[in-house]
Amino acid sequence: MMHLPTIISISILLNVIIGSFLLSLYFLRQQSSYLYWGSSCLIFVCAQIAASLRVFIDFPIITHYLADLFIISAPLAAILGIHAYSQSDKKCRNTCAYVLVAAAVILLLAFDSQFSQLITTAIIAACFSYAAFALRKLHVKRIMHLVLLKLCFVIHALIMVTQFSLLLSDYLGLLQTDLKQVLAVILISHIVITTLTAMIWPLMMFLEHEQVLSDLANRDSLTGLLNRRAFISVSNNYLEQANNNLTKLCALMIDIDFFKRVNDQHGHETGDEALKWVAKKIKSQLREHDLVARIGGEEFAVILPNTSQAQGEILSERIRLAIHNDSFVHNHHEINLSISIGIINHKSGTNNVNELLAEADKGLYKAKLNGRNQVVTMAF
Ligand code: GH3
Ligand code: MG
Ligand code: MG
Repeated sequence: MMHLPTIISISILLNVIIGSFLLSLYFLRQQSSYLYWGSSCLIFVCAQIAASLRVFIDFPIITHYLADLFIISAPLAAILGIHAYSQSDKKCRNTCAYVLVAAAVILLLAFDSQFSQLITTAIIAACFSYAAFALRKLHVKRIMHLVLLKLCFVIHALIMVTQFSLLLSDYLGLLQTDLKQVLAVILISHIVITTLTAMIWPLMMFLEHEQVLSDLANRDSLTGLLNRRAFISVSNNYLEQANNNLTKLCALMIDIDFFKRVNDQHGHETGDEALKWVAKKIKSQLREHDLVARIGGEEFAVILPNTSQAQGEILSERIRLAIHNDSFVHNHHEINLSISIGIINHKSGTNNVNELLAEADKGLYKAKLNGRNQVVTMAF
């Protein structure tokens, strides 16, 4: 059996650290989700301190009434944090306030009785269930942390439902056994899982911000493909690997034919949608480890690792046909697009991807001169 005072001390310490950290972030960034989550951690600390005082003082208004109110307020603040982060449901703040006031009144009436514990458990079980439900509105790129957070809330809700059933059975006199041991285990689970949740949330937000910043730096905002800078950096690594492992690699330069006409005839917004459509079409033909980027207005570059010239030509032809054989439809307009491709197979020892792209670009130039909508292979 774990030592309860030790667990409470560790939990208080961690929640104080995380809570203060989140609050200082709030003062820095003025995002209310930090304020709510930081407060949630610190309120939980107050709940633990108030409840722990039961051992030392006989002052139920603090050790029971206030402690119960803190225990209820902590998940309510967490729920407000979720809503503030997803910027949804402005009514939530009022609902949380009503729940808190109702809880305060009922707990005051049932003050220091078995019934107050029952009410507190029921309210926090409902809060954790709702928190798991509210997470569905959060749109994050790293789904793993969201799933973990949801799992924490669901497990927490289940623990509280178990506690509620036990307390209710005991209250109705249906149980003959002493619940002390079981309730101690439940209390420990409650403390551990609350602390775990408090740790996952900031981790999720930081990784999310990190992902957003990385996307801003490395991705083209229109198509979601890599931008030129990131593409050059990653493909130089591919090139180095190919040289070390003596494998072959192909570089492609792709340009949409007569794209200016699309803008001129259908407007820039349709042009943007067409660019997204072409990007998707190119990507749909590539393998998982192939690299594709939008490196200019309507120009794309592709690196095909472990690919011979013949294989590269087949893949390029597939990309060309995928666009040629289909039509881009936007605002009821059917627009036929085509692309020209220049391809080069790398020569062992080439260690700068710009050299490869320059050669592939010569192929692209030839394809345009030869009438467009075709693939031209260059040789070193
Ligand atoms: P070519 O077959 O010779 O490549 O003809 P083209 O019309 O595609 O070539 P050109 O270089 O004359 O025109 C490229 C056009 O691409 C001009 C520009 O308006 C358009 N373009 C570049 N970037 C964007 C963009 O982000 N959005 C939209 N809608 N159009 C873009
Ligand atoms: Mg073009
Ligand atoms: Mg161009």
